[in-house]
Amino acid sequence: MPSYTFHCKRCGNFTLFFSSMSGNKSEANCPDCKQQSARVYFPPNLFSYSKELRTRIEKGMEPRIMTKQELGPNTMKRKSAIQRPWQV
Ligand SMILES: [Zn+2]
Repeated sequence: MPSYTFHCKRCGNFTLFFSSMSGNKSEANCPDCKQQSARVYFPPNLFSYSKELRTRIEKGMEPRIMTKQELGPNTMKRKSAIQRPWQV
């Protein structure tokens, strides 16, 4: 059964359970004050992983800047046509 979490500006977050995946679930009425609330999104089941793995996933989202020394010598250098005579 899919569950969706919504955020009410007056009461905070609340979760509703739906019997089907179909339909527009971007908004719902708060069960307490009936105010229309927008859906909030969480990464799926990220809390069920260990702390180490969660940290690695979160850190993996950021690109790492590498220096030329870390990359090593450039092996993709273009070789001259003399070394590859079969190529026209
Ligand atoms: Zn409310």
